Amino acid sequence: MTPEAIDALFEAQTAAWPDLDRGVESLERAARRAFEIRGTRVDAVRIPHRVVSTTAPTDPAAIRQRPCFLCPENRPAAQTGIAFGPDMVVLANPFPILERHVTLVHREHAPQRITGPSGVGAMLDAARALPGYVVIYNGPRSGASAPDHLHFQAGRSRGLPLVERAGGAVDGMLTDPWRAVLVVAGDDPEDVEAGFRRLMSPLAARSPEADEPRVNVIVTFEGGRWTLLLFPRARHRPAAFHEGRLTWSPGAIDMAGLVVLPVAGDLEKLTADDIETVYREVSLPIDAAREILAREESS
Ligand SMILES: [Zn+2]
Repeated sequence: MTPEAIDALFEAQTAAWPDLDRGVESLERAARRAFEIRGTRVDAVRIPHRVVSTTAPTDPAAIRQRPCFLCPENRPAAQTGIAFGPDMVVLANPFPILERHVTLVHREHAPQRITGPSGVGAMLDAARALPGYVVIYNGPRSGASAPDHLHFQAGRSRGLPLVERAGGAVDGMLTDPWRAVLVVAGDDPEDVEAGFRRLMSPLAARSPEADEPRVNVIVTFEGGRWTLLLFPRARHRPAAFHEGRLTWSPGAIDMAGLVVLPVAGDLEKLTADDIETVYREVSLPIDAAREILAREESS
């Protein structure tokens, strides 16, 4: 898997698969707004084709009842992929948020777990193979639309304000008072993975869920160095979603500073206050994130 192979995949697939061609065109036309939240840049984009994912039911019963759209037998007939290692296949995403937006899908129907086999190690491998890209993980209760089938996403990093800002970051926390972001960086993949696991362990200890704490993860690789951004989450959807005020279900891309809104009118009425309120609601509180970090530094 290389950026050139993904370029070729998109060239072939946009010609053969009208849904993908429409998705790519719709993203190019998408309306955008820029905001400043206490001095930090956050962008918002209206992408109508995200509505199914943004409003998807996330309860286990609903997930069990729907056919898994990442299993080969349920994929669109026109969708073809490229191999990534022995275990994963790379598919163009017909509902893109990023340029060259792809899904890295495990060949087995196995639960979404970043700490399991083909977890964070596979993300680091994918990031190394794709300079200029982000590799993304949404946890099973933090934005994954297929929590029952292991997958990552990737796409060009352009347009993600936090990723641009995090270039060259070192281990620690990026200090926005309204959004917890823990950073692990380095040039040795085993060290980066170990640093990530040292953060996940106290998060798991304080998590009410047995399987995995609520997280989003973004990995980049530039100049021989990985940067891993870990977003510990308090909840998936904000009050404004449940109250019908704002159709916004933040995942990793949103946490990295690109607010994805599918519904007409939401982009126009969105305010900087709304954005800050939602980030505060869905992030682990900053004090709790500081505690996690202090434990990791003293260990
Ligand atoms: Zn599946």
